[in-house]
Amino acid sequence: MRHTELFTKTRRDAPSDEVAKNAQLLIRAGYIHKEMAGVYDLLPLGLRTFNKVVGIIREEMNNIGGTELHLSALQSPENWRKTDRWDDEKVDNWFKTSLRQGGELGLGFTHEETLTALMREHISSWRDLPTYPYQFQTKFRNEARAKSGLMRTREFVMKDLYSFSRSTQEHDVFYAACGDAYERIFQRVGLGVLTYKTFASGGSFSKYSHEFQALSAAGEDTVYVSKEKKIAINKEVLNDEVLADLGVTRDELTEEPAIEVGNIFSLGTRFSETLGLTYKNEDGESVPVVMGSYGIGPARVMATVAEVFADEKGLVWPVAIAPFRAHIVEIPGSEDVKKEAEELYSSLMEAGIDVLYDNRDARAGEKFADSDLLGIPVRIVVSEKTLAAGKFECVERATGHTTQKSVSGLIQTLS
Ligand code: ATP
Ligand code: MG
Repeated sequence: MRHTELFTKTRRDAPSDEVAKNAQLLIRAGYIHKEMAGVYDLLPLGLRTFNKVVGIIREEMNNIGGTELHLSALQSPENWRKTDRWDDEKVDNWFKTSLRQGGELGLGFTHEETLTALMREHISSWRDLPTYPYQFQTKFRNEARAKSGLMRTREFVMKDLYSFSRSTQEHDVFYAACGDAYERIFQRVGLGVLTYKTFASGGSFSKYSHEFQALSAAGEDTVYVSKEKKIAINKEVLNDEVLADLGVTRDELTEEPAIEVGNIFSLGTRFSETLGLTYKNEDGESVPVVMGSYGIGPARVMATVAEVFADEKGLVWPVAIAPFRAHIVEIPGSEDVKKEAEELYSSLMEAGIDVLYDNRDARAGEKFADSDLLGIPVRIVVSEKTLAAGKFECVERATGHTTQKSVSGLIQTLS
C-alpha cells in the first residue's frame, strides 16, 4: 500500500478522555477511532492487525476440528428465559431493544442459548458427535467500566467456540486440546512468555475453568504466579485447597496484574438439559450433550500486544500481527531516489511481501516519527545517502538494529 492511499493521519495527542495506553497509541497512530466511551472503529491499519489475529485463531481452531459459522446478534428472549439469563436482575450487561410491533429483543452478549437450541436440529444420534462450531461474531455488553481502551468495549468481536461431546471423557480430551491450541495462539501473536494458563472459577460443572492471563500492569485482573513452575491462579479462587491441588505453596507465588485474553470453560449439561439438546447413545438411550465454551477477544489480544510491546516512540508489532511486514520510507530528494523507492516497492510486492510505502512529500523527521509510531517491524530507508551507497538501510523497529541490504537481501530477510 502506498501511504498516499492510506487516508488516516497520525496525531500528536490522543483524545483527552482516553486514559488507556493501548487506545491512546492506537488512536494516535490512526489504527482506531474512538466513537464514544467503550466503542471504537477499526481503521485500515487496525483492521489489518485485527485480521491477522483473527487469521491465527482461525487456523488453530480449524486445526482442532472447529467448524466456522456465524450466528445473529439479535436474540429473542425465549431461550434466555429458559436458562434464566434474560432478566436484568440475573444478567446485568444486556443491551435490549424492541420490535416496532411490540416484543423485546436482546443483542447477544454470548451464544450458548442460541447455538444449543439450534443444534437440536442437527444432533440426534451419537454419530453426530462430537462437534465444534465456532464463530467470530459481535457481542454487545453494557460493561460498567470502559476505561481500558480496546480491552473492554461495549461492542466487540469474540471468537467463541462451543464443544458438543458425548461424555465428560470425550469433553475432557477436547478441552485439553483447545487449551493447547490457545497456548499456540498466544505464542504466535507474541504473548507466549507473558501468558499463563490460569486456574479460575469453574462454575457448577467443574472444579476449575482456565483463563489465559497475560501479565501486564494494565490488567484488570489479579493472578498469583509461579514463573518457575509456570503456574497461575486467579485471585478469585486462591485458597488452601487450590494450592494443595496444584502442589504449590503461597510463598512460591507472586501477585501480578493480568489481562484475561481468553478462557476455556466446561459447561457440563447445564444448557443441553435446560434447552433439550439430547442424543441417542449406542444403546438407544436419550442422553444430554456435554458442552464447553471457549472464548478469545481478538481486539483485546491486539490491545494487549500494543500495550506490552510499545516503547516511548510508539507501537512495536511482532511480525505475525503487524499490519505490514516492512515500511519503506523514502526521504524526498532527487527523482532518482523516488525511482529507486518505487522500484523497491514493486520488487517487494512481487515477492509477496506486505509493505507500506511512505511516498509522501514530507520532511524526514516527520516520516521517521510516523514510522516509529506505526510500529511496522522493519523500516527500509531510501535516500540520497543509500542511493550513493548502493544499499538500503534496514532498521528493526523493536531493537533499532541497523543493517545495509540489497534488494535480494531484503527479499530474503522479509519473506
Ligand atoms: P472479563 O472477566 O474480562 O469481563 P469475561 O469473563 O466476560 O471477561 P468471556 O465472556 O468469557 O469473558 O469472553 C471471552 C473473551 O472475550 C475474554 O477472554 C476476552 O478476551 C474477550 N472479552 C470479554 N469481554 C470483552 C470486552 N468487553 N471487550 C473486549 N473483549 C472482551
Ligand atoms: Mg465480562
